[in-house]
Amino acid sequence: MAIQRTFSIIKPDATKRNLTGAINAKFEAAGLRIVGQRRIQMTRQQAEKFYEVHAERPFYGELVDFMISEPVVVQVLEGEDAVAKHRDVMGATNPAEAAEGTVRKEFALSIGENSVHGSDSEENAKIEIAQFFTEDQIVG
Ligand code: ADP
Ligand code: MG
Repeated sequence: MAIQRTFSIIKPDATKRNLTGAINAKFEAAGLRIVGQRRIQMTRQQAEKFYEVHAERPFYGELVDFMISEPVVVQVLEGEDAVAKHRDVMGATNPAEAAEGTVRKEFALSIGENSVHGSDSEENAKIEIAQFFTEDQIVG
């Protein structure tokens, strides 16, 4: 196992409910370091591009509308096996299926408004990080 970086988003349902700190506390407790972080209002164009892989799914339009409905916090997290570790702390996509103690179990409102995004592979992490951060904005 090696030190990895992954890309994370604290989604609108969570920023709206002032849960940024509570979610970050779970990431840090799991051994993930927040090495880049910025609060942004995502544009429709950014959200459409970010979720392009889901463009054919029935929930795509709703997902894009949701992601631009309130500010989000984009993050780069670093740590041992960070991609898998982050996915573990996030919990299953559907909060009804998420394990106890995970972010989605505790905070998600629904399968769509599920509080956090996390890259699903190291390759995608690199692509997603590059969409929102330049190297000089990441300080490990
Ligand atoms: P994950 O975020 O766990 O990687 P996916 O990549 O499958 O999940 O989906 C991306 C995002 O699309 C989810 O986090 C969620 O916000 C939304 N989504 C996924 N499935 C549904 C669904 N059935 N209905 C509404 N929104 C969904
Ligand atoms: Mg995904």
